[in-house]
Amino acid sequence: MSEPSRSALPVAVIGAGFSGTVAAIQLLAQLPPERPVLLCERAERFGRGRAYGTGNPDHLLNVRAANMSAFPDRPGHFEAWLAGAEPDEGVRRSPAGTFAARGLYGRYLAELLTGAVTEGAAPRLHLVNDAITDIAPTGEGLVLTSEGGQRFPVAAAVLAMGNLAAPEEPASRHRLDPWRPEGFGRLHPDRAVLVVGTGLSMVDAVLALRRHGFAGRIVAVSRRGQVSSVHAPVDVWPQPEITPADSASLTRLLGRIRREVAAAAAAGIGWHGVIDALRPVTDALWLGLPERERARFLRHLRPFWDVHRHRAAPPAGAAIAAEIAAGTLRIRAGRILAIADRPDEAVVEFRPRGSQESERLPVQGLLDARGIGRVAETADPLLRRLIGRGLVRPGPFGIGLDVRPDLSLVGDAPLWTLGPLLRGALWECTAVPDIRNQAAALARAVAEALRR
Ligand SMILES: Cc1cc2nc3c(=O)[nH]c(=O)nc-3n(C[C@H](O)[C@H](O)[C@H](O)COP(=O)(O)OP(=O)(O)OC[C@H]3O[C@@H](n4cnc5c(N)ncnc54)[C@H](O)[C@@H]3O)c2cc1C
Repeated sequence: MSEPSRSALPVAVIGAGFSGTVAAIQLLAQLPPERPVLLCERAERFGRGRAYGTGNPDHLLNVRAANMSAFPDRPGHFEAWLAGAEPDEGVRRSPAGTFAARGLYGRYLAELLTGAVTEGAAPRLHLVNDAITDIAPTGEGLVLTSEGGQRFPVAAAVLAMGNLAAPEEPASRHRLDPWRPEGFGRLHPDRAVLVVGTGLSMVDAVLALRRHGFAGRIVAVSRRGQVSSVHAPVDVWPQPEITPADSASLTRLLGRIRREVAAAAAAGIGWHGVIDALRPVTDALWLGLPERERARFLRHLRPFWDVHRHRAAPPAGAAIAAEIAAGTLRIRAGRILAIADRPDEAVVEFRPRGSQESERLPVQGLLDARGIGRVAETADPLLRRLIGRGLVRPGPFGIGLDVRPDLSLVGDAPLWTLGPLLRGALWECTAVPDIRNQAAALARAVAEALRR
C-alpha cells in the first residue's frame, strides 16, 4: 500500500465478524470522508465470524430476528431484510418468535459489507484478506504487519477479534473439529462420541453430528451438566427496581431476583420475563457488585446465569429434548480426569459429580464445545504480542481486555475494542443487541479522538 498523507491515514479494523463489520460501517459514517477504513480478516469470508459462518440450516440464531438488526437506530432492519429473503431459506417461525438460520444472518452481514464497499464514487472501505500478526506504535499512529508480509500504516485500530478459541483441551488425537463436520458421517454408529460442554455450543455440536449423518450415541459432559434453556413466548414483566443495598452482595442480589421471579410466577409470568426485564440493567448490576462478589459470581453462579440468559431457538431446543428423551444424547455432570488415546478410540476417565469413583468412557471421538477462551490464557499470536509489549492488558478477571469507558484500550497506543473482548469490563457485551450499540459509540469516540 502506498504511504498516504497523515490526515488521510486509515483506521484499521482487525476481524470481520459481526463486531468488525458493524464497527467498519459505523466508522465510515462517523469519520471525515477523506479518511479510509481498512477491514482485515484472516478467514476467506468477510462478515461471518465464528457465529455466522455455519452452512448448517439447523444452526439457528439464539436471539429472535426482531432483535438482530445490525443498527441501533433501525431496530427492524434485519426483519425487513428477512421478509425480502426467499422463502424456504432457514426462517423458522414459532410461538416464541421468528428465528433465522445463522448462515442466513451471515449473508445479511455480507450484503451490508458489499453495500459499504461499493458505496460512493471513490470507495473508502478496503478489505484486506490476511491475518494481522503484529501492531507497533509509530510517531503518527500504528503500523500493522500481516502474515503475508504486508505493512499498513494507520492512524488507529479497532481490535474486533471476537470469540477467542478455548485452550487446546481435551488433548486427544481423536478430537473432532466442530467447524469441519464433513467427516462426521464416517463415524461408526455403534460407538459413542463425547461432547465436552453442555451449553449452546453443545446444541450446535449435536445438530452438526446429526445433520452430517452420525446416528450413534452422544454423551455430553460438563461440571454441572446444565443444558441451555429454550426461548418461550414471553409476557412482559416490568424492570425490577434494584437498590444499591440489593446489589451490595451476590447473596442479596440473588435473593432479590428470586423474590421477583416468585412475584412474576404469582402473576402467571415465567422466569424468562424477569431475566429479560433485567437485561437493560445487567451491566449496571455487574459493575455495582464489589469485585470480590463478581469473582464469586464467576466461580459459582455463572453457569446458572448462562443457561437461563442464553437460550436456544425452539426448534433446536426441541431437537435436543427429543434426543435426551430417546436416550441418544446423555447429559452427564462431572469432571474429566484424564484421556488415554488408543489407536481407534479415546478412553475418558470421568468422575460423576458428587461421586468418589471414576468411570471409563470409551469414545471414538471428542468434540470441544466449551465455548470461548479467556484473554489471560490466549494463544492468539497478535494478542500475546500486544500484551507482551504493554500496548493492551487483560481486564477484570482476565476474561477480556482492560478498557476505558469510551472503549479505548488501556495501554499506550490508539487502540479500541468491542464485542466479546470486553467481557469482564462489561457483562452483557457479546450479543448483537449489545455490539451494535458499542460499534456506534466506538466510532464516535475514534472520530472524536482523531479530530483532537
Ligand atoms: C456459535 C455462536 C453462535 C452465536 N449466536 C448468536 C446469536 O444467535 N445471536 C447473537 O446476538 N449472538 C450470538 N453469538 C454471540 C456472538 O459473540 C456475536 O453475535 C458476534 O458474532 C461476535 O462477533 P465478533 O466479530 O466479535 O467475533 P467473531 O465472530 O469471533 O469474529 C472475529 C473475527 O476476527 C477474525 N480474526 C481474528 N483474529 C484475526 C487477526 N489477527 N487478523 C485478521 N482477522 C482476525 C476471525 O477470523 C473472525 O472472523 C454467537 C456466538 C457463537 C460463538
